Amino acid sequence: MVINVHAGHNPDGKTACGAVGIIKESTEARKVKDKVVSKLKSLGHTVYDCTCEDGASQTDVLNKIVAKCNRHTADLDVSIHFNAGANDKAGNGTTTGTEVLVYSSTSGSNNYANKIVKAVSATGFKNRGVKVRNDLYYLKKVKAPALLVECCFVDDRDDVKLYDAEKMAEAIVYGITGKKAEVKDTASSGTVYKVQVGAYSKKENAETMQKKLKLAGFDAVVVKA
Ligand SMILES: [Zn+2]
Repeated sequence: MVINVHAGHNPDGKTACGAVGIIKESTEARKVKDKVVSKLKSLGHTVYDCTCEDGASQTDVLNKIVAKCNRHTADLDVSIHFNAGANDKAGNGTTTGTEVLVYSSTSGSNNYANKIVKAVSATGFKNRGVKVRNDLYYLKKVKAPALLVECCFVDDRDDVKLYDAEKMAEAIVYGITGKKAEVKDTASSGTVYKVQVGAYSKKENAETMQKKLKLAGFDAVVVKA
């Protein structure tokens, strides 16, 4: 699949940043977004990060996000947000929960939205369901089937206690792909670290070392450099 992913709003500290509660929406949405991007890539999907880091205003942020999204022909467009308005800073023992927004009840993204909200709520958040919102600029303007994940509430102590960026990203990716992605630390940069034990000008010498390593229980491969 080709998938656009972005975190909502400007970064925290800038104009038009997201909601601030016990945790900050812009910051957490970016953490989840980075993990979603690397997990989707590790599963073999083509992913474009359409996050805006330098909007001059709320309108500018939205325009820039939509422009980035529409530069690619995508199968799905995913926006990562956190909700606010629970006003439960002390914690009442119950999460306010997770929801996924779509433009209409016939949007091509509905199936994914349902699966995402199910996967996130399976990690313990109250399932607020899939909601139709035809008033949101992003959902209205992007060409690909689009959805907006409101991961959980930034101002509910119970949501914040349960929330973990890694698990949240895992659930979102599972909702999209039906698969769990194992991701190395460096996956977002695409860097791979190799362990080397020797470099040989003669292939047979390399192969001798490979045999020694294999006998010692190491899974060694010979590569040309
Ligand atoms: Zn938001």
